[in-house]
Amino acid sequence: MNGQLFIVATPIGNMSDISPRAIETLQQVDLILAEDTRDTARLCQRLGIKTPLRSYHKFSEKKNLEPIIEQLLDGKRIALVSDAGTPAVSDPGKYLVRSALEAGITVLPLPGPSAAIAAYSVSGVLQDEFFFCGFLPPKGEVRAKRLDSLLGMGFPLVLYEAPHRISSLLILLQERNARVVICRELTKQFEEVFEWHGGEIKERGEFVVVVEPAEKPPAENDNTAIELVKKSGLTTKEKVTLLRALNSEMKPNDAKKIVMK
Ligand code: SAM
Repeated sequence: MNGQLFIVATPIGNMSDISPRAIETLQQVDLILAEDTRDTARLCQRLGIKTPLRSYHKFSEKKNLEPIIEQLLDGKRIALVSDAGTPAVSDPGKYLVRSALEAGITVLPLPGPSAAIAAYSVSGVLQDEFFFCGFLPPKGEVRAKRLDSLLGMGFPLVLYEAPHRISSLLILLQERNARVVICRELTKQFEEVFEWHGGEIKERGEFVVVVEPAEKPPAENDNTAIELVKKSGLTTKEKVTLLRALNSEMKPNDAKKIVMK
């Protein structure tokens, strides 16, 4: 019988956030694959877990898949953990999960902490949808371009950022007139969650930045176009599509409201 692969979330700061089921799973599996075996060894020691550990990090992610898949096909039960939070979310794991699924192996999540979801939950964003971006390109023109194309979608964004790049990200955001919520050191001693209205911030710790794009007032000649679309003989669906094409940042519901007015 095939084994099972468990994707186990671990704390992003506060050790009490590990779930009893995660602990039980880490105790019972044959092997734990860890992004950093030293970090995970410390976690296991705290929790009295004696399961063998093996390294699985981003540099060997694609190379070491075969022997792991073979072990799973032999019936072994294997858990994957990252340094913090949920594996495969801006962390090693996706290639392993993909290969396991392709090989017909059962892959099961042990849900728990993730910095992105924790940050979104305290961001005060009123929209139900959001876009998880992970890390932006670290520098250069491509960084600003990527940010603009993400903001252009009109969804709130959840971004990870390294402490030494947080100021450069905030400068880009300030120029773009967006609502910004900074979540720093979540669940840790110096945890902070606040709306950022400009000014310097401490470049220490771990950051998630939640960004709400500014509402874009329709340009004057857009109104003419809107009126033409409204009066046309097109179906509501076609009118909505056309309005959204005219204003690339318009959300489907907003376009529908205009058409129905
Ligand atoms: N897989 C992880 C998860 O699910 O949260 C994310 C891993 S990613 C490599 C690490 C990034 O997550 C950090 O650079 C930071 O942006 C964010 N992060 C992790 N822990 C955090 C915390 N306690 N507070 C704020 N951000 C955190």
